[in-house]
Amino acid sequence: MTTTNGSGQWHKKGKKGERNTLICPCQSGCEYHDCCELLHLGKAPLNGEQLMRSRYSAFVMGLERYLLSSWHEETRPETLTLSPEQQWFYLKVIKSCAENDQGEQYVTFEARYRENHQVYKMCEKSRFIKDSSGLLKYIDGEFIA
Ligand SMILES: [Zn+2]
Repeated sequence: MTTTNGSGQWHKKGKKGERNTLICPCQSGCEYHDCCELLHLGKAPLNGEQLMRSRYSAFVMGLERYLLSSWHEETRPETLTLSPEQQWFYLKVIKSCAENDQGEQYVTFEARYRENHQVYKMCEKSRFIKDSSGLLKYIDGEFIA
């Protein structure tokens, strides 16, 4: 099997100067610097889907600090260590809902990764909510079989 999207190689290839022409790992079809990089550099997300995509890209790229900073203070772990063996290579947004009366946004997606030559699939319905500073954050998610 051959792969063409090159994901999983960010750790090796993510040198300065190259990244501006890279297609975003979130598979939006846009270039990274027009897409998730903006959020990774501190831009506020417009909605839950954008935030979820930027977090997926952060998983691909190993951006642990971004994963923590985009996590709601109520549920955020103290630290986060991503396994370099886990190579995320697929994302599909299944459903993205507008904010409800409780100020929650839900995004359902499927993501896949490789680890030790095996492919794993996960489906999650993520919940996003604004924190005390008014920024939209990931709060929790529910696995869907
Ligand atoms: Zn993106």
